[in-house]
Amino acid sequence: MKVDVIKVGNKKLAKTPNLENYEKGYKNFSWDEVKKDLEFFKGGKFNAVHNAISRHARDELKNKVALYWIGEDWTERKFTFAEMERLSGQFASYLKDLGVDRGDRVFFFLPRVPEMYYGFLGTLKRGAVAGTLFSAFQEQALVDRIGSSNAKVLVTNKELLPRVQKVKKDLPNLEKIILSDDLEKVLEQYDDEGEVREMELDDPAFMLYTSGSTGKPKGVVHKHEALLQEEMTAKYVLDLQPDDVYWCTADPGWVTGVAYGILGSWSLGASAVVYNGRFDAESWYKILQDWGVSVWYTAPTAIRLLQAAGDELPDKYDLSKVRHACSVGEPLNPDPIRWGRRVLKILFHDTWFQTETGAISIANFPAMDIKVGSMGKPVPGNVAAIVDDKGKELGPMTEGSLALKRGWPSMMKTIWRRPKKFDSYFEGKWFISGDRAYMDEDGYFWFVGRDDDVIKTSGERVGPFEVESALIEHEAVIEAGVIGKPDEVRGQIIKAFVVLKPGVTPSEKLKEELSVYVKKHLAGHAYPREIEFIDKLPKTRSGKIVRRMLRAKELGLEVGDTSTLADE
Ligand code: ATP
Ligand code: MG
Repeated sequence: MKVDVIKVGNKKLAKTPNLENYEKGYKNFSWDEVKKDLEFFKGGKFNAVHNAISRHARDELKNKVALYWIGEDWTERKFTFAEMERLSGQFASYLKDLGVDRGDRVFFFLPRVPEMYYGFLGTLKRGAVAGTLFSAFQEQALVDRIGSSNAKVLVTNKELLPRVQKVKKDLPNLEKIILSDDLEKVLEQYDDEGEVREMELDDPAFMLYTSGSTGKPKGVVHKHEALLQEEMTAKYVLDLQPDDVYWCTADPGWVTGVAYGILGSWSLGASAVVYNGRFDAESWYKILQDWGVSVWYTAPTAIRLLQAAGDELPDKYDLSKVRHACSVGEPLNPDPIRWGRRVLKILFHDTWFQTETGAISIANFPAMDIKVGSMGKPVPGNVAAIVDDKGKELGPMTEGSLALKRGWPSMMKTIWRRPKKFDSYFEGKWFISGDRAYMDEDGYFWFVGRDDDVIKTSGERVGPFEVESALIEHEAVIEAGVIGKPDEVRGQIIKAFVVLKPGVTPSEKLKEELSVYVKKHLAGHAYPREIEFIDKLPKTRSGKIVRRMLRAKELGLEVGDTSTLADE
């Protein structure tokens, strides 16, 4: 397919980016320079939260708003850096009183309420390990996570409590359940100078379970040191600058919500918007407009849903403040990028990372040409490559495993209680991501598909992403999920599950038209021989298409772990 390039010169950058020249910045980069922007205690000791909050609470940012909170019912609250410092300090004192010590796990099973944010910060101040759980989890998902992590304390609210109570007997290590509903009142009796403990860079700070797109979620443990890369990427990729209003739409139950909803973004002193409501196109446009959001970090699924809500809706809103936008979590198809540019006048920059990598690893930078459909280039201080099964580097334009040279600061410390699983990620000096990709002659990385999702048809390997991208270029299509279906002659054939735009009538003729469309636009062999129209695609709660579910349904197989799937 023809590659569409958006030159930096055509991006109409509203501000000079923090990273003015990617090539130069990458070449001259050193982690020591990043460390100079951060504060260490004596003897090289460190605390991520000292950097994210405490130091700002003492400098000129103290009265700057750290959190603009918007409730589901549109109630508004504001918290300055000084207030976040006080509340998180009180929470740390409360944990001390409860006997929580270094390394103990404190879990949060909450919607995006302020208590979730300062509780998380207070936990790290105390030297304990914070775990976040998406509020839609049901009983089994809770047992799997809180149980396996042996959490000592759980913070939840009255509404979610019954779910916890049902499984309490299976959580023998859980000593204390804190309710967020009256937490602020409880905290009044606690010292607000809650000590920020001096940690080693290598000490665990938080743990997160992966999205569960490919199977049972893994408990990924991250270090305080992760902050180095989280801050650096918030600066160079998200391009956060002092007067920005920043909105990260990810829930703190996922890595994006922690790295760029709490730690990296606040370390840079950003004013962050948090909306504790569900996705809804009008609400989202309203937030972008009314809060004057200037930097926006979101996900492909949301962009496609905005697109499905029509081209007229955004006309009613003023989105002109948005000067930089990024996307993560799934491949960002070319069509939504073009749509965003044409209709919203917003250019989405794709970024790639995983729970395991702890921070953005590959990105499209503001000051870099975008090759539409590519994930971009490795972030400074990181080396990315395409390798074969033995960890041997492959040349340009060859598909293989996407790998990173081990040892970047936000690389996971371990997989909770699964040391063998942790070891299985590495091949010599490489961390193997489990995604398939290729690198082009200019060093841009292109996503092909997850290991398990790549289709082998008539001896050719086909990535579901490019077929899905081709399908959604067609005006009748909103979303598509593509799988390989066993076939006696071809090994596998390509089957596509397609969600049509509202008002489009499904027909055999349309199926035929879509097949021919992909054949013409992509390749003679890489078109869906079978198409099925469905109302919606199975997705994780973090919004990713779950192709293993489509496969299981198609083949009548066991679906496997479904704890992270969104409601039907
Ligand atoms: P599990 O590991 O449990 O199967 P998961 O991989 O979906 O779940 P996450 O760590 O949340 O869990 O997601 C990381 C994965 O998301 C990446 O490995 C990749 O497959 C996909 N991903 C993230 N960003 C992008 C992107 N920009 N382009 C393509 N894929 C992406
Ligand atoms: Mg994964």
